[in-house]
Amino acid sequence: AATREGYVKRTKTVCTYCGVGCSFDIWTKDRQILKVEPLHGAANGVSTCVKGKFGWDYVNNPERLRTPLIREHGPEGSYFREAGWDEALDLVARRMREVKAQHGPDALAFVASSKCTNEEAYLVQKLARAVIGTNNVDNCSRYCQSPATQGLWRTVGYGGDSGTIKDLEIARMIVTVGSNTTESHPVLATRIKRAQKLHGQKVVVFDLREHELAKRADVYLRPKAGTDFVWLTALSKYILDSGRAAQDFLDQHVNGLDDYRQSIEEFTLEFAEAETGLSQADLKKVAEMLLEASDRSQEGGVCICWAMGVTQQMGGSETSTAISNLLLVTGNYMRPGTGAYPLRGHNNVQGASDFGAMPTMMPGYEKISKPGVIEKYEAAWNTRLSRERGLDNTQMIDAMLDGSLHFLYLNGEEMGLTDANSNRAQHAFEALDFMVVQDITMSDSAKFADVVLPASPALEKDGSFVNTERRIQRLYQAMAPYENSKPDWEILQLVANRLGAGWNYQHPADIMHEAASLADLFAGVTYERLEGYKTLLWPVNADGSDTPLLYTEKFHTSDGKAILYPAVYQPRSQPERVDYDLHLNSGRMLEHFHEGNMTFHVPGIAAQVPDSFVEVSPELAAERGLKDGSLVRLVSPHGAVRLRTIITDRVHGKALYVPLNVRDAADAVNRLTGINKDAITNTPAYKDTAVRMEVLGED
Ligand code: SF4
Repeated sequence: AATREGYVKRTKTVCTYCGVGCSFDIWTKDRQILKVEPLHGAANGVSTCVKGKFGWDYVNNPERLRTPLIREHGPEGSYFREAGWDEALDLVARRMREVKAQHGPDALAFVASSKCTNEEAYLVQKLARAVIGTNNVDNCSRYCQSPATQGLWRTVGYGGDSGTIKDLEIARMIVTVGSNTTESHPVLATRIKRAQKLHGQKVVVFDLREHELAKRADVYLRPKAGTDFVWLTALSKYILDSGRAAQDFLDQHVNGLDDYRQSIEEFTLEFAEAETGLSQADLKKVAEMLLEASDRSQEGGVCICWAMGVTQQMGGSETSTAISNLLLVTGNYMRPGTGAYPLRGHNNVQGASDFGAMPTMMPGYEKISKPGVIEKYEAAWNTRLSRERGLDNTQMIDAMLDGSLHFLYLNGEEMGLTDANSNRAQHAFEALDFMVVQDITMSDSAKFADVVLPASPALEKDGSFVNTERRIQRLYQAMAPYENSKPDWEILQLVANRLGAGWNYQHPADIMHEAASLADLFAGVTYERLEGYKTLLWPVNADGSDTPLLYTEKFHTSDGKAILYPAVYQPRSQPERVDYDLHLNSGRMLEHFHEGNMTFHVPGIAAQVPDSFVEVSPELAAERGLKDGSLVRLVSPHGAVRLRTIITDRVHGKALYVPLNVRDAADAVNRLTGINKDAITNTPAYKDTAVRMEVLGED
């Protein structure tokens, strides 16, 4: 809407940072952002955090890509030259055709962006599947939340939050595991803090790092790195053995109790104490708190929130499964204020998976192996589709290095810095025949591309996002695309049509209409039902009714019963050398988002936190003679980085913490992280990293 006689434009949008999905009006005058006004967002009410309020200037950052770029090779090496859209797109299409003709469709791979819209994720997977003929398509949930989704699929059926963010306020107890909630999901954390203060909600935090929510918690416990599975399973066993599990709930709604009981025999409190370092007394205390809060005669119960401290481990899927098992044992599903809350990281990482950018699933999580699914899409898209499972992000890197993957289309992802072992990932890019990067700035990954296509961020286009609570929300175009850039969906359509696809989407609404007609999960999703601040939580039935509480009478399994999934403990790896004596943890911070491609281009935020750092405990600082601001070199088997120290009691003993964002990509934390991964999902075990430290001095 325009106000002040058409001078100022006011547009409803959704934050492009974290998965909370705050929505607000943004006031603009041409390209100038005047203010952000939260009004009545379904997820956030009238709140935002610093990033949502002030983190928008990146849209006018002079380093935005203005026009397509093509790599040329000269006597002094290669360089990019500016090109027109026709020339760049013709080249991309020609190389796609050539690689497919020479090596087959599975020699190409596509990565969709968790910062782009649902409609754009849908088109990336359709380009891969229907136009090229491969299921080699994935998104960055592979790097963060796939294990959480896996744990929920195995036990309760849907890979999503059990209820709404608002429901967290009526929980009688919140447990967070491996989640720096206050900094990573700030507005969601304010709901927890408010409920703790106003309603006496109990907050229990398990984390290696004593972050802000840990300091406020009723109970804060610091297990040894990579041992969350053990204490979670020990709590389940203790509660089952004490005869105080939610037996009626288990009888009525859950299968697999006997096998589960057998699988957790060894997980006594004694074993848990030895393995995790947590005392039996503390574990008993938490068990008693859980039991008290799980009383099903009262409103609300226990919600468990978890994030990358759990998922980025070698046993990330197993630990996520253990979380869901504990919720089942205590009857904490099927009521508001109970259940599982994997906290999704990016604004649309949920949507990128929901809309099919996955190597084994079509939109709406329909498995390609399920009879009838591929046939449905073949009929709708009028083409033959591959039945072979595609490569995930981790496998794509391996396939580039072994020479079987020749072409990569990277849509808005900084894969070269976010993949664990980023030196290896960048080496893999060099092995490709051809690489396309479609992004808003010259990312570190784009430096390896053959063609770079300038795309538009959320403020410059229409579409929709899905937040962490499965809420689908509309965003509207607030300003024209910058210079010669284009919205991602338009670029994808231009590429597809150069390959003979014949797509004719006039607006993202047309894409959503097609996705909703094919995927049952979104059957009733229309732009009319999402108009303005209206939202829908999937599954959305054909009549437009949605699902704030994911499970009410049955779970999403063949017989409607949940499954207590047998326990498999995957201990963390051992350091390769004894002098790798420090444990490296990594994560987010309030001011910056991930690698910092957006927030370092917001002058106010960049001035506030100008660079990355390493947090060191007072004990370690004393032992190594470190002060605040000392320069150190961290070395792992995979690389080395130089950072300044901050001495803080947030970390303990030989644990280090490094934020994900960094000014100089040469010192990004993923230069250090390695090739260990979760066995079920291939999610890299970023948190399973041992390093040594060299002290370089004060300058
Ligand atoms: Fe909300 Fe997250 Fe954006 Fe902050 S970063 S405004 S919490 S969506």
